[in-house]
Amino acid sequence: MRIAVASGKGGTGKTTVSVSLALSFPGKAQLLDCDVEEPNAGIFLSRRDIGEREVTVPVPVIDEAKCASCGACASFCEFNAIVRIGTTVMIFPELCHSCGGCALVCPVGAIREEPSSIGTLTESEVLRDGLYPLAFFQGLLSIGKAMSPPLIRAVKSRAAKPERGDERRGDPDVLTIVDSPPGTSCPMGTAVAGADFIVLVTEPTPFGLHDLDLAAKTVRKMGIPFGVIINRCDSGDDRVAAYCAGEGIRVLMRIPEDRRIAEGYSEGKPLIDSAPEYRKKFAVLAYVIAGEIRGGDR
Ligand code: SF4
Ligand code: SF4
Repeated sequence: MRIAVASGKGGTGKTTVSVSLALSFPGKAQLLDCDVEEPNAGIFLSRRDIGEREVTVPVPVIDEAKCASCGACASFCEFNAIVRIGTTVMIFPELCHSCGGCALVCPVGAIREEPSSIGTLTESEVLRDGLYPLAFFQGLLSIGKAMSPPLIRAVKSRAAKPERGDERRGDPDVLTIVDSPPGTSCPMGTAVAGADFIVLVTEPTPFGLHDLDLAAKTVRKMGIPFGVIINRCDSGDDRVAAYCAGEGIRVLMRIPEDRRIAEGYSEGKPLIDSAPEYRKKFAVLAYVIAGEIRGGDR
């Protein structure tokens, strides 16, 4: 079972919701921080790191001794990651999408691929009072790297593989919460792909409404069921609520402004610790969504 938490814009409380769902769900759970350009779920977790690994992607390297300067590779690359200027062929690794096509079209075998680091993947364990420990996976894109989707895929793939006899991974009953990057571009699409349900977190402001509309249209196109949480619901205006009603979008929860939550956030405390009454609310929400997912599988 996989629930992705996404938002059309940053700063709506997406990570707060992800962490709250993961910490309060009464069954086995794991949390994937796929907001790899700015992962911050770990700030709110008392975790014990288990391991860290480098994530690499293949990038082309040209053997100048073999290159005939034919330009076939540059013509093929639709991302302009290879250019030919006269007899010189140059590669711009930061634009490369690692498709491997240039090596395939090179007529003289002058292109080989070498691994290039794009970031790290950290695995941790988080103890939860009276509940199964939470498995936590975090991707962190290296500074200057632009290609986050391969790192997001690495986080998702690693979390899906059972290892070290840990029965949580690969268990169909484990609830996986994916904290998605904000927005509606490739990183968000990569993070939410394969989700059984998406929670869109928004706020009742004109920007919040505009970006919620984009996000709702995106997940509708992906064919994934979704609902909305309106954070800071008593600020702004009621246009987000009216939009949801008009579009037939379910509002899953409303979270009013609360000084305890704001102060706890600034201290790195999860919402469910700052305002304990939300522990039950998020547990029920996770349980209800999980039940709907299970029901949909039948
Ligand atoms: S691997 Fe693909 S994206 Fe990268 S340089 Fe070659 S053709 Fe372009
Ligand atoms: S396709 Fe091969 S031979 Fe042609 S320019 Fe590229 S690297 Fe050189």
